Amino acid sequence: MQDAQPKTIYLKDYQVPDYLVDSTDLHFELEPKATLVKSQLKIRRNPKAGQGLPPLLLDGVDLELLSIAIDGSILPEVSYQETLQGLSILVDKPEFILEIHNRINPEDNTSLEGLYLSNGMYCTQCEAEGFRKITFYPDRPDVMSKFTTTIVAPKDHPVLLSNGNQIDFGDCEDGRHFATWEDPFAKPSYLFALVAGNLENVEDTFATSSGREVKLQIFTEAKNIGKCEHAMRSLKKAMSWDEEVYGREYDLDIFMIVAVDHFNMGAMENKGLNIFNSACVLASPETATDSAFQRIESIVGHEYFHNWSGNRVTCRDWFQLSLKEGFTVFRDAEFSADMNSRAVKRIEDVSLLRTNQFAEDAGPMSHPIRPDSYIEISNFYTLTVYEKGAEVVRMLHTLLGKEKFRKGSDLYFERHDGSAATCEDFILSMEDANQVNLTQFRHWYSQAGTPILEVTDSFDQATGRYSLKVSQSCPTRANQDQSLPLHIPIKIGLLDVDGNDSILNNGGDIEEVLEVTQPEQLFEFSGFRKKPLPSLLRDFSAPVKVRYPYTGKQLIFLMRNDSDTFNRWDASQRLAFMALTQLQQDYRSGEALQLQPELIEAYRDVLIDSTLDPALVAEILRLPSEQSVAEMNDLIDAEAIVVARDFALKTLATALAPELLQRYTALDHQKPYSPNAKDIAERSLKNTCLSYLAATEKDDALNIVQKQFETAGNMTDSAAALSALINYGSAPKVDSAIQEFYQRWKDDTQVVELWLGLQSSSARNGILANIKNLIKHPSFEIKNPNKVRAVLGGFANRNFKQFHKEDGSGFFFIAEQVVMLDKINPQIAARLVVPITRWQKYSDDLSGKMREALQGILDSGGLSKDVFEVVSKSIN
Ligand SMILES: [Zn+2]
Repeated sequence: MQDAQPKTIYLKDYQVPDYLVDSTDLHFELEPKATLVKSQLKIRRNPKAGQGLPPLLLDGVDLELLSIAIDGSILPEVSYQETLQGLSILVDKPEFILEIHNRINPEDNTSLEGLYLSNGMYCTQCEAEGFRKITFYPDRPDVMSKFTTTIVAPKDHPVLLSNGNQIDFGDCEDGRHFATWEDPFAKPSYLFALVAGNLENVEDTFATSSGREVKLQIFTEAKNIGKCEHAMRSLKKAMSWDEEVYGREYDLDIFMIVAVDHFNMGAMENKGLNIFNSACVLASPETATDSAFQRIESIVGHEYFHNWSGNRVTCRDWFQLSLKEGFTVFRDAEFSADMNSRAVKRIEDVSLLRTNQFAEDAGPMSHPIRPDSYIEISNFYTLTVYEKGAEVVRMLHTLLGKEKFRKGSDLYFERHDGSAATCEDFILSMEDANQVNLTQFRHWYSQAGTPILEVTDSFDQATGRYSLKVSQSCPTRANQDQSLPLHIPIKIGLLDVDGNDSILNNGGDIEEVLEVTQPEQLFEFSGFRKKPLPSLLRDFSAPVKVRYPYTGKQLIFLMRNDSDTFNRWDASQRLAFMALTQLQQDYRSGEALQLQPELIEAYRDVLIDSTLDPALVAEILRLPSEQSVAEMNDLIDAEAIVVARDFALKTLATALAPELLQRYTALDHQKPYSPNAKDIAERSLKNTCLSYLAATEKDDALNIVQKQFETAGNMTDSAAALSALINYGSAPKVDSAIQEFYQRWKDDTQVVELWLGLQSSSARNGILANIKNLIKHPSFEIKNPNKVRAVLGGFANRNFKQFHKEDGSGFFFIAEQVVMLDKINPQIAARLVVPITRWQKYSDDLSGKMREALQGILDSGGLSKDVFEVVSKSIN
């Protein structure tokens, strides 16, 4: 819990560690309430840290210290001191063996950091600073050590796992058993892992490019053993992909994944022993949706790729988090794009970025991808560090091109293998490998905020010259320095009057990457007979907002003709935003609402176009979420947004009903389920049509929904029908569907999480009362982050309409839950509070209520560092 005053940590204060740990021998005797941990550390003075022998400072939280010895002699109490942060030990020689015994209580550890129990299974989560809850240690990523781990446990925990290779296993004299694991690669403490439990596993092998055979194992509870196949297939694909695309081969004899029900994050890349949130690894056609299948493939890939970008080369300090996360998210996004539809993957990622990361970058916790200070590092596992970080790496890829980027990444791995690096090291490798200058590009690492590009154009009929003027700016917050111009790659095409790409230069290219480096810059193109229409920021080549005065007609033209699939979708989004903005204005000024007929026809054209990828059609049809509309507005009027979007949705649904039904029926073939890209695309369009049809609230449409609910052969179709029913069905039918679904799936944890989430995000009036009942439901568990995310997160993040009720009831309810949850799991509590912290962007009535809810949290006192940081930064 909170120290007197939570301390801010600054990047500029970084210092190399005073002492290094050459080897770490750990010995665990597992007991639910009293686990004994013995550590033996081979320590030496860091030659780079200066003269003398300062005290050895070890981090430690919630540990019961039993004894300390140096070179075999127990230390007298005068030689060490227990502090708020851990231990301070007086040292009189530059090299020694330190032995510490301490006790911990895994059963009562509800923070899910360090060693804890989940359904009777012991497991660990050490990133970022969880290892200090296991034993006293220099718990920082730049201290890398070779670990050997012995686990002793009763035999009702038959599986005993840790990092590396197992080197010993056997019985103890007292009836327990043990296993010893040795990790030959030096690693920081955050990559340590231990698992002990009654688990089964599926096994496979992978032959690496150099011909070594690696054993692959996925561990889970016996009841879930049939749900591991997809993750195993994904793992093998990821291993091949990393060899092909990055030349990276796996390095141990064994690679293990363990599924855990109680987990704060999605998954964790511990060396050789990845620990996964069950929801991110377990899937079967009956129980998992298409998006779950795709998420699993991407997360299995992500964690596997960390073996090089994160583990072999790790981060020097936590300010460099984006070094491993931005790069690895970029790698997993490319992997998913190669395995599935590239355009749809890009659309999904950009939607997430624009809706949520842009909002974060405009909010009170706004920070650069390499933050320069923090109170609690857990609060910086953000979309900015991960997703914007990945966009920054993608821009390097765009600027350098595929081959040069690979040369840069090869040099980076070669230079920094086995060490802790910085974002600067990464850029330097890209520069040195390719003899380029990325000085200006570095500003992306130190500047927060979403840059805005204003683009205007002109055409000289006499000379056939077309020019684009680009100005860049970046909104800064009161306490930030003025931002410097960034180096921004803008990929463009120019469409002629027939909708074809024009030739842009002597090389005959139809696309060009403009490098914007100045506050204002002019780009010229010649040889045009008529003024072309620009297709700007193709493939979303930079994480920026582009403003260009497109007319509705031009957007419809791009939507029909742009050869860049991403921009085709983007034109549809701009068009929808334009319409929704108009509807909001009309609503506020009391005018009758109406949707332009041209817009409806544009949607109809897309809907009936059978030459388009059905997944793309679905993405284009889907209106921007209320949340993303809110992000686009300078001042958020929640009620107007809801009314405008509801009106647009219902109008489109009614006008397009015949075509929607036609496409639905054509796609509703009862094929056996397969999570391949083509089938996923078809189901995506089918269920988008279904949800539009439901929005008409006509009996025949709702009968189709009911029928799909009753006959669905896979979870994608079943969940889509349930969701449509929950939002549009008649009350008795909704109740019986909810009950029926629960009775059928109540023993399947992942399906129950889905079921909870669908209810909490329902836009129906009166949902808050239902949510208050849901948190008393036997399936809900406040100590399980997945359940909290499903119910409370679903309400605060995915139920725009009901969360933003004008009486503030949604905010006060969430605030109450945050205070309670903070005592159990501070990390999860700090994430839950975020939607209330953006009060400054809301119109007066709501912003006042949000502030009041935040003040209530602050006044409750005794907050964790996690919640304190988020709330206090937003309220001041
Ligand atoms: Zn990661």
